[in-house]
Amino acid sequence: MHPCSFEVPRAIIERLKEEKQGQSRDLPLFLIMNALRPRKDISRMITPTRRPALFLDRDGVINKEVHYLHRIKDFVFIPGVFDTCRMFQNAGFALIVVTNQSGIARGYYSEEEYHILTRWMIERFDEQGITLTDVMYCPHHPKGAVPQYRVQCSCRKPKPGMIVGACARHGIDPAASIMVGDKFSDIQAGRSAGIGRLVLVHSDYEINLEEAQQAHHVAESIGHSSFQRWVFQDDIAVAR
Ligand SMILES: [Mg+2]
Ligand SMILES: [Zn+2]
Repeated sequence: MHPCSFEVPRAIIERLKEEKQGQSRDLPLFLIMNALRPRKDISRMITPTRRPALFLDRDGVINKEVHYLHRIKDFVFIPGVFDTCRMFQNAGFALIVVTNQSGIARGYYSEEEYHILTRWMIERFDEQGITLTDVMYCPHHPKGAVPQYRVQCSCRKPKPGMIVGACARHGIDPAASIMVGDKFSDIQAGRSAGIGRLVLVHSDYEINLEEAQQAHHVAESIGHSSFQRWVFQDDIAVAR
């Protein structure tokens, strides 16, 4: 349809006829005007500058899972994570970490300790020529021991708040994006945020078959060649 063409709904035409014949039933003018306005061409509303992102859970995806990890000495990168991230970066993807950090709400470590570890992690990526676009974290837990973090928030996965927020902040197209996680809650968060492709990787967490079936792909790890093949040889990530 030509962007300037439009159809006047039948009901409006009937009302206009009645009006001509002096039988108008007080149809508000703005309704008529809205009906006569050209329809928006939806395809023109999609901003061409929106880019895809690789959303990464942290623990179990970027680094080996350690319960309530907060010390640099316990942070061990998953083999191949830098290679995979570099491939996505070169393909035009933003790299965004989305991590639940309920250890802060539980009082196991402070927000400051979390930031020290995060800065260190960002520097290790930088050294590899990889720029993390953002690192989003949720410090909350509804049963947390620290009052200021004891809230029912909208960012703790499986809620999609962090992903939705990152999409808005960085102009990300969720449908063209990929979410990688090691828990079902990562998959649920990605799905709720409208992420186009959901990937589960193995870590210490048990994943049942029913949950695994809700992911588009299950990989040994983010650095595994099968994951890279799935993404780049099946044209899921097209270089832009
Ligand atoms: Mg995890
Ligand atoms: Zn939260």
